[in-house]
Amino acid sequence: MQFKIEKIIIDDRVVEDALTLQVSSRLPDADVKIIHHKELAQELESITLTEGKRILLITRRSGELVKPCPATNPPYLCCRYTVINQAWQCPMDCTYCVLQGYLGKSVMTVFSDTDVIHSQIIALLESEPRRFFRFGTGELADSLALDPLTDQAAQWINFFYNRPNTLIELKTKSDNIDGALKAAPSNAVLAWSVNPKQLIDKEELHAASLEARLVAAKRAQEAGFMLAFHFDPMVLFPGWEQAYRNVVQQIFSTVDSKRIIWISLGAFRFPPSFDDVIRQRFPGSGILNAEMIRGLDGKMRYIRPLREKLFKTVVDEIRKYDKNLFLYFCMEAPWMWDRILGWTPDNNGHLDYHFALSVKKRFPQIDMSTPDIADYFD
Ligand code: SF4
Repeated sequence: MQFKIEKIIIDDRVVEDALTLQVSSRLPDADVKIIHHKELAQELESITLTEGKRILLITRRSGELVKPCPATNPPYLCCRYTVINQAWQCPMDCTYCVLQGYLGKSVMTVFSDTDVIHSQIIALLESEPRRFFRFGTGELADSLALDPLTDQAAQWINFFYNRPNTLIELKTKSDNIDGALKAAPSNAVLAWSVNPKQLIDKEELHAASLEARLVAAKRAQEAGFMLAFHFDPMVLFPGWEQAYRNVVQQIFSTVDSKRIIWISLGAFRFPPSFDDVIRQRFPGSGILNAEMIRGLDGKMRYIRPLREKLFKTVVDEIRKYDKNLFLYFCMEAPWMWDRILGWTPDNNGHLDYHFALSVKKRFPQIDMSTPDIADYFD
């Protein structure tokens, strides 16, 4: 791991849980503090984000841990991904990370109530038995950053193994795949967020290099996993065009595109209040040095022609290698789909349906129902 966990805070209700015992045994030098669960909020309230990235809280959470991706408001389209929130926060420190302002929680947290999460997933699958569900653990945390401590990746892969009408995507900026590779891969996608080296060096602290991510992707592919890549957030900087083309070239010269299930693209965007957080925590960051506007969902975005240019550059490059690969935008307007990808989903359900069609065609070995648009209405 490229970072150090110095302290473990343990909720008194989970002291004997398997996850707690395992994490503690793998961090023999960390300070350990057991706190009565009713006093946790008080214990955590003065911990800053920077301090919180060296502290791991193990606790239990009641309520929904499996839910639709929060998405954004229309007209921007979203893909109806389902997120599994078994962890919050991340030991890496990207200047643009939305978790800095989104969660209101500063300490890395893992929940040990895996059984509850499993039941929530099964209930959801049973509620719409013909829909193909895509689950991911990388929304409020990096899916693999803490895996050398938690071994959660293999557990998730095993849980989804040969389960019909679903898959799990584990998304990361690390190269911690040794745990995942111990599991049999049938319904699992290992996914990497990618950016040019210049941006990783400056804006993605403690993350793995692009080369290390791609070496890990190649190993995952050789072990039989499906792969995905996420150009998100794409950021403008001097020389970005060639730099992003280079990333595409590196991906396709390292892995076999037939094993890539999808690639997403999303331009840098953030809630307006968030820019104070970035300026305060990362005064040397250049990420805010661009002309931005307030989008129709209230988030700050690059102006339309710049977003269009960003996307077109990367999509054109990808299409040189694979004309059929499923590409999608995260939180973009219908007209952007039309101009850059040549089609526009009617709505989020329609996009979800197209994901299913694409998976069925590209990976026919996955056990899934033949997609029917009637099963994909919101
Ligand atoms: S790797 Fe992802 S979750 Fe971690 S700091 Fe960076 S953007 Fe945030």
